[in-house]
Amino acid sequence: MTQKERYAFVLKYFEEHAPNAETELIYDNPYQLLVAVILSAQCTDKRVNMTTPAIFAQYPDVYALSRATFDDLFPLIRSISYPNNKTKHLIGMAQMVVEDFNGEIPATVPELIKLPGVGRKTANVITSVVHHQPNMAVDTHVFRVSARIGLTTNAKTPLQTELQLLKHIPKEKVHVAHHWLILHGRYICVARSPKCGECGLRPACKYYAKLIKAS
Ligand code: SF4
Repeated sequence: MTQKERYAFVLKYFEEHAPNAETELIYDNPYQLLVAVILSAQCTDKRVNMTTPAIFAQYPDVYALSRATFDDLFPLIRSISYPNNKTKHLIGMAQMVVEDFNGEIPATVPELIKLPGVGRKTANVITSVVHHQPNMAVDTHVFRVSARIGLTTNAKTPLQTELQLLKHIPKEKVHVAHHWLILHGRYICVARSPKCGECGLRPACKYYAKLIKAS
């Protein structure tokens, strides 16, 4: 199977089986999504979704959050990984959005990555989920699944994975492909023991082909 055929198979499979894949983070607007994505670093979406309702109730918009003190916000974040840093990042992010962006969450990657707690991955998530821009956020699931299937070759960093995926995935499909790969990694192609027996991508998967060859 050529690389072109592999991509075609994988994209067609996901289009048929998960046409409306979307983030599992619960949010109502770009502000809430940005807070949730910052909190989700090294943490499950499930845990974040348990935490955000209290934050959004107390801080309904970026202005409210920009006025929070560390001691106000920290107790609401305590149960999440890295609560110290995330508390500082959220307040810093809100202050910068108010001061430098008129209270509007920026809509471009270069602007977003200026905000505290926002790296390339988070900026790619926000711009692809909110604005459907063709930006591919590479988290641990996207990195692993892409490598196993063979969508990437010798990618050593998330950036290399991102660039290889963007070369092959049509622009209009990038924003949903991000969710396809994440959800596949979360539920089927899991880190320790991928559930190949349940996976419809077997005919295109390099990892599976090697498994079969070795057995
Ligand atoms: S066949 Fe196995 S390794 Fe390949 S994508 Fe599916 S679950 Fe992952």
